[in-house]
Amino acid sequence: MSQSAQKDLYAVLGASPSDSAQQLKHRYQQLVLQYHPDRLGGVCSSEAESGLRKFLEVDAAWKILKEHSSRKEYDLSRRAEELKQDWPVDSNVCLEDMSWDEDQSLYTHCCRCGGEFSITEEEVEEARQRTQQRDEEEEEDEEEHGVVVCCDTCSLSVYVTWTLQAKAPTLETQ
Ligand SMILES: [Zn+2]
Repeated sequence: MSQSAQKDLYAVLGASPSDSAQQLKHRYQQLVLQYHPDRLGGVCSSEAESGLRKFLEVDAAWKILKEHSSRKEYDLSRRAEELKQDWPVDSNVCLEDMSWDEDQSLYTHCCRCGGEFSITEEEVEEARQRTQQRDEEEEEDEEEHGVVVCCDTCSLSVYVTWTLQAKAPTLETQ
């Protein structure tokens, strides 16, 4: 994961996302009192410097969280970021939309970095059997199945999906 991820603004305030605006304000005021540059006048310069950094951080976090609309916007982007971490998949691709490489028995799809996602026929077959087995155990008849395939160049991945063909008539439900 990239290091450039934004600092958690709630963590900066020592607060939690479920805190009310009033609670956030209280946290902010406490921190500002603690780190305000005026209060650090007498201490050594490195301590004053880190205090100032903290003060600016707290102030920047508060500027976003104090407004209902910008807080909401931040909450949404925070949520999206969390989702991305749980499921680092860039997009879905249908197996039918991938290019078939006859020579290598390989399905390929171009990544936007110029690299390639590729999955062999055997891998597809394996995953197909795996999901089929699972389906029989769970007695579900979901139509979509797939596997996550990583780009050979960058860190993106796609979820390659296909529709399971019901081969045997015994799979039919009454
Ligand atoms: Zn890529």
